[in-house]
Amino acid sequence: MARTKVALVGIGKIARDQHIPAINASPDWELAATVSRNAGVEGVDRYATVEEMLAARPDISVVSLAIPPQPRFDYAAACIAAGRHVMLEKPPGQSLAECYDLERMAKAKGVSLMATWHSRYAHGVQAAREWLAGKTLQSLTVTWKEDVRRWHPGQDWVWEPGGLGVFDPGINALSIVTAILPRPMHLRAATLDFPANRDTPVAARLDFAYPGASVTADFDWLQTGPQTWDIDVACAEGTMKLSSGGAKLDIDGRRVSEGPDREYPGLYARMADLVRTGASDMDLAPMVHVSDSFTLGKRRQVAAFEW
Ligand code: NAP
Repeated sequence: MARTKVALVGIGKIARDQHIPAINASPDWELAATVSRNAGVEGVDRYATVEEMLAARPDISVVSLAIPPQPRFDYAAACIAAGRHVMLEKPPGQSLAECYDLERMAKAKGVSLMATWHSRYAHGVQAAREWLAGKTLQSLTVTWKEDVRRWHPGQDWVWEPGGLGVFDPGINALSIVTAILPRPMHLRAATLDFPANRDTPVAARLDFAYPGASVTADFDWLQTGPQTWDIDVACAEGTMKLSSGGAKLDIDGRRVSEGPDREYPGLYARMADLVRTGASDMDLAPMVHVSDSFTLGKRRQVAAFEW
């Protein structure tokens, strides 16, 4: 079967680290064009603006947006208006209302729209979901502590409104939690630490309401040394731990699942399915909890942040 042509917009960190290798390794996809103000991919047609690409390449049916959240809505709206299917990097927009608008536009145009939550495709997540189904949850504790200077060097957009600050990685944890818990949760309280010179938080502690259980999250973006991306779960029937961002799963202290990174190949396989079946996948649950954190969170000012 012919491979589906995709245009990749934004040739930055995540495009190079994940999107390009995942597309090139897939039997479903062909990287047919890039849209970039600064860079290109050897052997692939490059356009300076998305409008130019849309006008010149009616043969490209899918556009993948690997740009920061702030400019994403305008790009997605242009692609949908031009009748193209769209993949949105996480978070799918800088506000919920933007995402609802895109959903409405995609439906009206009859194109597929996907909010990609890459962490949901980490190796241990599906097995964690299956293990939790039908068990009695007592507690779930997220510990997501990493060094922003190491993972996002010089990316000022993370500190600008819409950039989410520590929720940029934290939303990955929330995407896993909302995928594995059998029942919905809602935020009860939060504390957000804002550096004196920045518009987004550098740390956050969240407390969720969940029937019969304690569900909490601790996010920190100034963790040097070992980095922690863990979710610890206690149930009446036993314990479970997802670590390394969901890549490893332990049940009752024994490793039951571990494997190679397959998050972005998983996202592109899912998008291929959506396009084939004419469906969309716009689960906004992780973003609801982030928006609620900004609404309900108690704010503390902490030391200024400099790179
Ligand atoms: P980045 O490297 O800072 O930016 C990606 C690219 O987006 C830039 O190279 C630029 O591409 C384009 N861009 C930047 N600002 C723009 C603007 N104002 N208008 C239009 N295009 C703009 O960011 P990233 O780390 O790749 O992150 C991009 C998205 O992927 C974010 O939503 C992030 O949460 C998500 N993500 C990142 C990671 C990670 O490890 N960094 C992991 C998973 C998901 P051109 O120069 O080619 O125009």
